[in-house]
Amino acid sequence: MARASPAGPALALLIGMLPAAAHFATLGTQGIELSAALAWLGSGLICASLLLMVREPGFASWFGGLERMYRWHHALGTIGYALALAHPLALAVPFLASDSVAAWQRFASASQGTTGILGWAGTIGLMIGLGATFAMRLPYALWRRLHATLGVSVLLVLGHVYAAAGTTAALWLLVPPAALGLGWRLLRADLGKSARPYEVEAVSQPADRITEVTLRPLAAPLQVLPGQFVLLAFFEGPRFQGCGEYHPFSVSGIGQQGQLTLTIKALGDCTQNIQSLRAGVAARVQGPFGTFMQDRPAGPELWIAGGIGIAAFMGVVRADALQGPTQFIYLYRSEQEAAYLDELQAYRATHPRLTLLAQAGSDDTAILEHVLARIELAPVPEVYLCGPPGMIATARSALRRRGLSANRIHSEKFDFR
Ligand SMILES: Cc1cc2nc3c(=O)[nH]c(=O)nc-3n(C[C@H](O)[C@H](O)[C@H](O)COP(=O)(O)OP(=O)(O)OC[C@H]3O[C@@H](n4cnc5c(N)ncnc54)[C@H](O)[C@@H]3O)c2cc1C
Repeated sequence: MARASPAGPALALLIGMLPAAAHFATLGTQGIELSAALAWLGSGLICASLLLMVREPGFASWFGGLERMYRWHHALGTIGYALALAHPLALAVPFLASDSVAAWQRFASASQGTTGILGWAGTIGLMIGLGATFAMRLPYALWRRLHATLGVSVLLVLGHVYAAAGTTAALWLLVPPAALGLGWRLLRADLGKSARPYEVEAVSQPADRITEVTLRPLAAPLQVLPGQFVLLAFFEGPRFQGCGEYHPFSVSGIGQQGQLTLTIKALGDCTQNIQSLRAGVAARVQGPFGTFMQDRPAGPELWIAGGIGIAAFMGVVRADALQGPTQFIYLYRSEQEAAYLDELQAYRATHPRLTLLAQAGSDDTAILEHVLARIELAPVPEVYLCGPPGMIATARSALRRRGLSANRIHSEKFDFR
């Protein structure tokens, strides 16, 4: 299993701290340096966080995968914002106890003119974008638009730094990560320049509200491993409207000629639309991403799939990549929504190392807890969980209560922002 790598975070932190280091190297540690230090460190971390938005599989692997890289993106952005917000306060604080008028004047002087307007506009924009980051319940499209205000806000912050400090070496250390991060993400990921062309070869319906799509590569295929996911966009076709943006889907099958099979459940506008997909529609695929079920040690395994989380495991089953005796718990909402039951039962009939417990009840935490309280955990298995965040949290805490150590439990949440 791929582990969190220190290389990427260390590099991002270094890039984030360089502007503050350059500032102190040129000016020394005299005068009102606390405020300046907070400002340079804060804006440095914010700009470095933008580098962690790019969606390049090789770069993401420096962080231990895309999801971990996004966690660092959020952490650097949030810490940077808190430091940047503290910097006008640091101007006033030394005077607060002795002379509140002087303290206010220091604070207000930093808030006036072009410098102040740019600074506060950037601060408010960052606040909106960061607020959206943590509002997981916002509809995805609204979340994305609010989060995108961060890009504009960073430009305002850079304008503020330029107005306040002029063209110093430290400013030149802020610009490259911001420009590279924003430009790279926009061109390569959002506008799809890094995507490979595919075409829909076949479509079927393995269960209610679930579509299985097989894509044929039209150029060199992506080298995807079972358990990984790709970012996928469909374009217009006869009787089909594309969604116009890239969505993540686990690969549920990999063909000899590089075909990719995806299993897509209707959850919102785009995935609902995909249910009417037809052969011949053009697709673009980015990736592959994800460390789920990679580099597994040989030995017993426990797999738990909730609903459409079955997709990631089907990739492993279809590649016939069992590592040892495998207990597979597959919970679905109802028989009508249970994809691949026949295929799994046929596989089990010829592969005695697989035991399958499939039952309705993916919405009911009591059922999952009941099943997990009775499952055999000796010899201790590696555990792989895939499904909705709530199911993963329930399974994780039930297994921890039964004494399984956290580093044996690996999961893929079908949700990242
Ligand atoms: C690593 C990973 C693997 C996944 N694998 C599968 C799979 O194999 N099969 C499957 O059916 N679903 C899978 N999903 C979930 C799938 O991506 C969402 O259901 C789909 O994007 C919903 O889009 P929508 O517009 O129909 O729904 P919406 O109602 O717009 O979104 C529902 C939720 O999906 C997520 N989402 C929506 N759009 C995007 C986007 N462009 N990028 C990232 N997340 C988005 C958000 O968390 C959102 O809250 C996976 C998700 C992740 C993160």
